[in-house]
Amino acid sequence: MCVKKALRMLEDEDESGAHSESLKGPAMSATSISSAERLSAVEELTTLPLRGENPYIRDWKESGGRVFGYTCSYVPEEILYAEGQPSRILPIRLGAQGTTTTDDADIHMHKFLCSYCRCVMQLALTGEYDFLDGVVLTNGCEHMRRTFEIWRDQVEPPFVTMLSVPHRRDGDNHFQWYRDEITKLTDEIGKKYGYLPSKESLRSAVRTYNRYRELMLELYGLRSIEHPKLTGSEAMKITQAGYCMPKEAFNERLATAIQELNERPGITDARARLMVGGSYIDDPWFIDIIESTGAVVVTDVLCTGRKYIEGMVDETLEPVEAIARRYFQRDPSCPRMVDGYPERIAFTKRLAQEAKVDGVVFERITFCDSHTVENLMESEDVEELGIPTLNLEREYLGGDKGRLKTRVQAFLEKIGK
Ligand code: SF4
Repeated sequence: MCVKKALRMLEDEDESGAHSESLKGPAMSATSISSAERLSAVEELTTLPLRGENPYIRDWKESGGRVFGYTCSYVPEEILYAEGQPSRILPIRLGAQGTTTTDDADIHMHKFLCSYCRCVMQLALTGEYDFLDGVVLTNGCEHMRRTFEIWRDQVEPPFVTMLSVPHRRDGDNHFQWYRDEITKLTDEIGKKYGYLPSKESLRSAVRTYNRYRELMLELYGLRSIEHPKLTGSEAMKITQAGYCMPKEAFNERLATAIQELNERPGITDARARLMVGGSYIDDPWFIDIIESTGAVVVTDVLCTGRKYIEGMVDETLEPVEAIARRYFQRDPSCPRMVDGYPERIAFTKRLAQEAKVDGVVFERITFCDSHTVENLMESEDVEELGIPTLNLEREYLGGDKGRLKTRVQAFLEKIGK
């Protein structure tokens, strides 16, 4: 059954204005898409296509919505998602899963640049992201800054901008800088598409995203219990699905997935409980490598994982102010920030102890400046707790899986697992 037919059936079913009204905007109910293919929520979220072939993205665009891509966790999704009706903006986090080469990107980017950035650029240059109406990047690191410049000059999307994020969080002037950048972003989108977010649409987006964080924390809770209800690989796939679906629809499917997971008996034969931290990961192959040894990844301190859902937006404050404070001042921060290490390591230690891990695997993408230093500092401090750590260097593309697996195996033997 095609989605449009499902839509028409829902409209026929319910003539009351309110319900059919919500069907008009691109905010689709998850039920209509998944029921058509009779997938359980866990199945759907762990197998969802992540780019142009994603049914939620496709329907959002077919219903008049726009799709904006972003990479960094300092881009405030609520500000994009709250944009005025009828053509809302769906923010999706740009991954590069399935990239097999960076030949085109390497024409513009030096090989000493982060391979995640080169892979995302490869997809952009070869049309995989042509469905995007806009791109919002940040000065997260010099590699990302270069990605912005090439995306702007070589891909020329309808809308592209850089959100400049200060490298320090202390003092009002740094916060005001970030706050002004959000205003600039809103104005730029307003000028281009002729509308600005209403206070009510901002508050509604804040409520939706806080609900998303609550549900994701519940999902993480099912990972770190004595007998985890899901593997680290499944958790990463579900998390990635959340980055490319309308949040209302994702929240609906995630709530169902959590019910389904609660019915599982739980993993009772894990060889070891591990935590992962470090550079950007959106492709589960690295977690699959670790779990192919019999270990289970029961939590993480990744900016695409647990770190991203930490901290609610305060619903009592003026929405833009509240959103800016949550994104800029939240702990743990990104290691690109020159301040905030004590809060970052405290967070890593807390999660490792709460999840009762047997070890922590710190990974970094070659040439990733932010995590090269941070991983070594954190692993030293975590070992003071008596928790062994392993530091691994890797490429985004995953060319050296055999070596990485051998390293993890040796680590497990070393810690007696
Ligand atoms: S993984 Fe590291 S180098 Fe790559 S974009 Fe993120 S912070 Fe920058």
